[in-house]
Amino acid sequence: MEPVRNVLEQIVGQLASPEWLKNVLKLKWRQIVGDQLAKRTQVRHVKDGVVTVVASNPAVANELQYRKDELRRRIREAAQFEPLDIRIRIGVVQPEEAVRAQRIEQELSRLVLSPREKSLIEQTVAPIQDPELKEKVARVFEQFLRLSQWKRRHGFKECPRCKALYRGPRTYCPVCRIELRRLVHHN
Ligand SMILES: [Zn+2]
Repeated sequence: MEPVRNVLEQIVGQLASPEWLKNVLKLKWRQIVGDQLAKRTQVRHVKDGVVTVVASNPAVANELQYRKDELRRRIREAAQFEPLDIRIRIGVVQPEEAVRAQRIEQELSRLVLSPREKSLIEQTVAPIQDPELKEKVARVFEQFLRLSQWKRRHGFKECPRCKALYRGPRTYCPVCRIELRRLVHHN
């Protein structure tokens, strides 16, 4: 059995990554903004805690702007992440991306966690006293395990350096490749 601390470190590392946050927000976008706005808006990227959202036209951008506080609260609930700011831009919203996100979200909700995964969640949250925090960590962890399971099933592989799941023929994930390149340049 993998030591719980390592697993936790891994999760915290991935949760802090803008890539993970962007993925979670994209998957939960319909749930966050509702059916109507989900067709006209899209998460573009997450950087330094700032979420950039694209709206298909000025009227939709205004509506989002007007509902920014609500949006911030819903993001916090859905992704357990408090955005520093939400920036709204007008741009092209790709409908196929929303369809894809919806399909993945459905697949994720149908995935069954293994007994090992369930006990890993229980062990991880066991030392947490605050019941609210306990519940929150358990939910984030479950989300993480579901997405990891989904990625493995869809041909992702584990980076030998940081354990993140990525796609492609390279030996390391994109983040490690950048870091390794930097190390080489410094030496
Ligand atoms: Zn890596």
